[in-house]
Amino acid sequence: MGNYDIIVVGAGPGGSIAAKIAADKGYSVCLLEKEDLGKDGRYKACGGAMAWELIEKIKFPEDKIDRVVEKLILHHIDGEIYSKQGKGAVIWRNKFDKFLTDMATTSGAELKQNEELIDIKKVKSDYKISASKSNYSAKYVIAADGVNSPTLRKLKWKKFNKEDLILTITQEMELDKKSIDERLGNDEIHLFFGIKDFIPMGYAWLFPKKDAITVGWGNQIGKIKHSKREFTKFLNIPLVKQSIKNAKLIRYTPHLIPMGVRSILYNDNVFAVGDAGGLVDPISGKGIPYAMMSAEIAIQTIKYCEKKGKEEKMGEMYNKKLDRSFLSILKQKREFRNKIFQNDEKLKSFLELWQTHRSSEIILKNLL
Ligand SMILES: Cc1cc2nc3c(=O)[nH]c(=O)nc-3n(C[C@H](O)[C@H](O)[C@H](O)COP(=O)(O)OP(=O)(O)OC[C@H]3O[C@@H](n4cnc5c(N)ncnc54)[C@H](O)[C@@H]3O)c2cc1C
Repeated sequence: MGNYDIIVVGAGPGGSIAAKIAADKGYSVCLLEKEDLGKDGRYKACGGAMAWELIEKIKFPEDKIDRVVEKLILHHIDGEIYSKQGKGAVIWRNKFDKFLTDMATTSGAELKQNEELIDIKKVKSDYKISASKSNYSAKYVIAADGVNSPTLRKLKWKKFNKEDLILTITQEMELDKKSIDERLGNDEIHLFFGIKDFIPMGYAWLFPKKDAITVGWGNQIGKIKHSKREFTKFLNIPLVKQSIKNAKLIRYTPHLIPMGVRSILYNDNVFAVGDAGGLVDPISGKGIPYAMMSAEIAIQTIKYCEKKGKEEKMGEMYNKKLDRSFLSILKQKREFRNKIFQNDEKLKSFLELWQTHRSSEIILKNLL
């Protein structure tokens, strides 16, 4: 039995950052990951787009970036095209997540890979975790194990509502860089919208990497009966068809994105971070920065409450700090999402505004 102060379940961006910061603050910490990360990390279905500020903040090496992006092109299926300027990067998640996990182990966190959490129970003041190869115990648990969070399922936390889940389909298409640049530009990523057609509550995307295009489609569960058929319709839009002509399909992966925050994010020394807590932007689907921020806030909360002797205030403190940082606006965005996707006219008005305003600004200034 390995005994630790903190066990972090899941070595995605949330888990790795939680483990790194906990180790930096002097806690003994164990990071459990069910997959084999090997030398190069493991594949995860994701657009892999992020703001340049995040790349700079974590000093992510430029040679690991697949594409530097300057522009977001927003296509409406009726033919309108909008564009949004802003520097960003497109990365493969195996490289990005592995970089963060290496930061955690360098700081002193113990990584146990190929180690899947099977069960978790509270015995007296500690959590006992049975994993595929060994058993562990700790006072605190950080559930950073993604949208399906086996940790929170075993602890019987309430599940996400169906309308708070987006089903995505991702296809990785291999293609030479020259063809990608000619077809999609060398510094642009493309989003596609259209309520009345095949994306009633979500969007689709073409995110070029160095020598592949990530083709994706995501829609609120229950809004569509045959997702695969709708995804195929997207592949047949002339621009999409032309962009992936002669490209080789290397992967096809369905995955969920949570679009609504869990009803609780803390209970009895267990913290939900990242996708496990539903901490994703409900308009853009961006989740990586929120996973990392919530992880940092969870560890800061533990440290602060222990230092001040206010351990009974941990849940309240975690929620308050999250609210101040980003949670309050994420919740407003969840409501606002229903407004944007009312009809195509509303959607187009939103896209028009989104060219020059952040979505938070559109909400807070009531611009739509
Ligand atoms: C198709 C798609 C496209 C996306 N595109 C973007 C994008 O372009 N930009 C962006 O910012 N966000 C994007 N997101 C969202 C982003 O991927 C997530 O928000 C982010 O990965 C959340 O990080 P996390 O650390 O909370 O969870 P995850 O990254 O899901 O990590 C969870 C980890 O837990 C591990 N795990 C699960 N169960 C167990 C277990 N029982 N025991 C041990 N380990 C376990 C998993 O193997 C995994 O490594 C996208 C998501 C999808 C599905």
